[in-house]
Amino acid sequence: DRIEEIAVTAELLRGMPLPQPDGDGDKETRGRVLVIAGSVPVPGGALLSAIGALRAGAGKLQIATAASIAPHLGLALPEALVAGLPETAEGGIAAESGEALAERASRCDTVLIGPGMMDEAAVVELTADLLTRLDPARDPAQDPALCPAGGGPRFVLDAGALAGLRRDPAPVQRHAGNVVITPHAGEMAGLLGCARDRVEADPLAAARQVAAHLQVVVALKGSCTRIVTPDGRAWAYRGGTVGLATSGSGDTLAGIVAGLLARGASPEQAAIWGVYLHGEAGNRLSRRIGPLGFLARELLAEIPAAMAALA
Ligand code: AMP
Ligand code: MG
Repeated sequence: DRIEEIAVTAELLRGMPLPQPDGDGDKETRGRVLVIAGSVPVPGGALLSAIGALRAGAGKLQIATAASIAPHLGLALPEALVAGLPETAEGGIAAESGEALAERASRCDTVLIGPGMMDEAAVVELTADLLTRLDPARDPAQDPALCPAGGGPRFVLDAGALAGLRRDPAPVQRHAGNVVITPHAGEMAGLLGCARDRVEADPLAAARQVAAHLQVVVALKGSCTRIVTPDGRAWAYRGGTVGLATSGSGDTLAGIVAGLLARGASPEQAAIWGVYLHGEAGNRLSRRIGPLGFLARELLAEIPAAMAALA
């Protein structure tokens, strides 16, 4: 019998250790992340995901966001370079920013798009434009010397950045093997054009279908989060608790996965590790302050110790 899904446990992760930075490395070699996120109604989506990338060990962080919130994010996160872009009437990043963003993205190892981006039409257009402009990253399996610096960046697509992939899959398919997507069941239903309860009836099948079609690693989030590769291999993480179901939680996960990718983890490794670390951060908070009521932002400071515990 084929093993349907492998359980994500500490033991599993110890067997697939994360790439460690060279002791002589500088912030560039530790991984450059561009976070395209936030909007006037939800600036915090950018903050939570960007901090997630740094807490996962990435070296250098840029945030691209709507102009009117950029200075506020810069003060909230003094570690970041923050680029303010022209914004739409709804307070999102205007789609015309694609060219400028592609230029910035081409000098990064990982690009995260989506958390807190509320103007869906603009995010959809911007995501497709950016994916179309950028060179695909080279396959590290074929040329390890080029990883992670060779070719274009790798991508994490979350939330609003997922909304256009059903209608127009070609831009993301260009980057086959270099993308992680992080939908919850509702977003997965949107990717398949079906009702949410159909996803919930067979989440593994849904994730396999989308991973194969788009050629991406899917992390389908829920009380059990499944990670599925384009060739159908699957992992399941059941170690989290309901306290993780809180505003901003998914934004932190997307940032953590982006940070791990920037460090040189493969898309499947970054997704598996990211999901585990996010859940473990919740478990640490549950033990220390209580199982309900911890904040998404509090997950972030737990990540370094959760990672170190697996070394
Ligand atoms: P989002 O809906 O994008 O904010 O993401 C929610 C996050 O919380 C995901 O990482 C989910 O896997 C996690 N989550 C949601 N509900 C539960 C639950 N009942 N038990 C464990 N984790 C959960
Ligand atoms: Mg979300």
